[in-house]
Amino acid sequence: MNSYSAKSWLTRLLTALLLATMPVTAGDRQADRDRMVSELSGYGYDITLITDDRVLSAMRTVPRHEFVPAYLQVQAYADRPLPIGHGQTISQPYIVALMTQLADISPGMRVLEVGTGSGYQAAILARMTDRVYTIEIIVPLAASARVRFRELGLTNIIAKEGDGYYGWKAYAPFDRILVTAAARHIPPPLVAQLKPGGLMVIPVGPSWGAQRLMLVRKDDSGVVTTESLLPVRFVPLVSKQNAEW
Ligand code: SAM
Repeated sequence: MNSYSAKSWLTRLLTALLLATMPVTAGDRQADRDRMVSELSGYGYDITLITDDRVLSAMRTVPRHEFVPAYLQVQAYADRPLPIGHGQTISQPYIVALMTQLADISPGMRVLEVGTGSGYQAAILARMTDRVYTIEIIVPLAASARVRFRELGLTNIIAKEGDGYYGWKAYAPFDRILVTAAARHIPPPLVAQLKPGGLMVIPVGPSWGAQRLMLVRKDDSGVVTTESLLPVRFVPLVSKQNAEW
């Protein structure tokens, strides 16, 4: 066997092993997912243009219909948010794609998500890196997301119920933080738990007012800068007393 064919044999073997151990089955409703992804790819303009193949391939794999109530599964691959109970929503696929692309995630990164909701965003992140931490404040949503992660074999997601405003000190610092509910200000504990060189993507603004999607950068020497990207509409980040943060 020459070195080229040995290499390609090894690559095929490793790919086969990787696919064999992939927990989320992409089998059902694959055609719907492919259509959703082809609609998303190239959607937007400038910084909001979805072009990242890592994001698109994760979205091609994760079965969004498993993350919505049974009566809404038929709408799971349309580009719109859907109710998931308790007054909350699963974000629209375009926003999930955009936030994930902005976060620029690579294997090996430690990622924190605030606002588990259905668990869909965490599942996308879990296809792109080794370890995802996610926090949800509504107890039944946190519990059902944990069951979903187990059923889908998403063993690299660590989930807890709690107030994500404070982050997750035990696992900090994080390379990336995604917040999927709108805060009135950027939570200082999350900034503190961001690694030097890290990024945070977060919607900021009041629940019924103008919200902006912000990109927070912490440079290698710890200096923090923020960039306001585009108007968005998210449910509010709330405290345990249900007051908006
Ligand atoms: N990422 C979710 C998904 O993929 O389904 C969608 C998130 S939904 C737009 C926002 C979520 O943030 C809700 O489930 C809400 O209960 C949760 N949330 C609001 N305030 C929170 C807080 N302080 N800590 C953690 N989760 C919070």
